[in-house]
Amino acid sequence: MNNSSTRQHGGHNRGRHVSILGGGIGGLTCALAFARSGARVDVYEQAPEISEVGAGIQITPNGARVFEALGLGAAAVEAASIRSEAVMPMDGLTGRQIARFDLTALAGPAYRFYHRASLIALLLDACRAAGVVINLGSKKTVDEVDVDVVVGAEGIHSQTRALLNGEQEPFFTGQVAWRAMVDAPDADAVARIWMAPNRHIVTYPLKGGLLNIVAVQERQQWAPEGWAHRDDAGNLRHVFRDCAPELKGILSKVDEVHLWGLFRHPVADVWGRDSIFILGDAAHPTLPFLAQGANLAIEDAMMLARCCDAGSLEEAQARYVILRKPRVSRAIAAANRNARNYHLTGAARTVAHMGLKTLGFVAPKLFLGRMDWLYGYDVTGES
Ligand SMILES: Cc1cc2nc3c(=O)[nH]c(=O)nc-3n(C[C@H](O)[C@H](O)[C@H](O)COP(=O)(O)OP(=O)(O)OC[C@H]3O[C@@H](n4cnc5c(N)ncnc54)[C@H](O)[C@@H]3O)c2cc1C
Repeated sequence: MNNSSTRQHGGHNRGRHVSILGGGIGGLTCALAFARSGARVDVYEQAPEISEVGAGIQITPNGARVFEALGLGAAAVEAASIRSEAVMPMDGLTGRQIARFDLTALAGPAYRFYHRASLIALLLDACRAAGVVINLGSKKTVDEVDVDVVVGAEGIHSQTRALLNGEQEPFFTGQVAWRAMVDAPDADAVARIWMAPNRHIVTYPLKGGLLNIVAVQERQQWAPEGWAHRDDAGNLRHVFRDCAPELKGILSKVDEVHLWGLFRHPVADVWGRDSIFILGDAAHPTLPFLAQGANLAIEDAMMLARCCDAGSLEEAQARYVILRKPRVSRAIAAANRNARNYHLTGAARTVAHMGLKTLGFVAPKLFLGRMDWLYGYDVTGES
């Protein structure tokens, strides 16, 4: 394992005591990054055990580069995930493939599909092996931990964000998402984006012969009492009842499904003050239509540990936000554009699909080239 990427700038983390509030993907990656640079790290997670929703997650090369630098072993990664071969935009109404973009041609570590629980288990094992203390059933605020550095990684409801930026209510994005998994032992290693007017579905395979389904619909309002609730699979099927037989065949297998209202905050202005920092969804929740929320949290985690290691915490505050904010803002804007592009109607839809088809036929590498700013980025080499 190469530790130089987390240590080359000065070793200021050595001996520091760091507390991370929140044991999600961002918090655990941050814990590991600080531990690798010599810090003593505690993670506080409010839940009695760290469990993720039963769903998949796509880790793209920009996030995978961090895992590689933090020493997550190739064998463990391979055991927990499937290497993605391609992404295929599909016409959700006819079932026709619009284009196929080969992801194996991407530079760097592979684009992968994980079950969330497997990814969390991988990170937890690595954290514990690195000496990180995981405190479960521990809901904490910044005032309750007396250490050198506190990181608020508590997700969209972060109190640390509110402390640094003032109270802001998350706003409803006008999109809801169902998440489900069905048996599909023969599914190929491809992410399909089934686009339909005002809706879309993304499907991709997971280890264990499963197919992960995220189905999105535009809605004016989100009224239920919570942010997520169990839904009737019939509601999901009804929304996509005019879609292609292949897609309806997949949805016919859905038994258990949950529905989320998708909420956001603006990107935070303040990412650090004194010894307090935020990362991931606490700083910048995003729509999931670029599969980047967790990947950005992973990048934040690495960048924060590196900035703190490089010098004083005052310097770290300044560098961290300058190095992160433009990139996450760009990714969030791109995810918002995807929401629009996936859901086009009428003539705009026909024209956009023609454009994608032509791109896929004539210059598929151009598509990957357009994504280079996202997937080609190496936070472990930033300074
Ligand atoms: C439908 C959907 C699909 C998605 N797909 C992808 C994808 O393919 N790729 C991708 O990169 N992203 C994806 N995302 C986004 C991704 O899930 C999130 O951006 C990511 O999980 C955020 O991680 P986080 O660690 O910042 O926060 P969270 O995952 O929200 O973790 C926060 C943790 O903090 C804990 N906590 C909260 N308050 C406290 C407290 N006071 N004390 C202690 N613990 C506390 C919580 O219990 C939780 O465990 C998707 C999102 C959705 C909704």
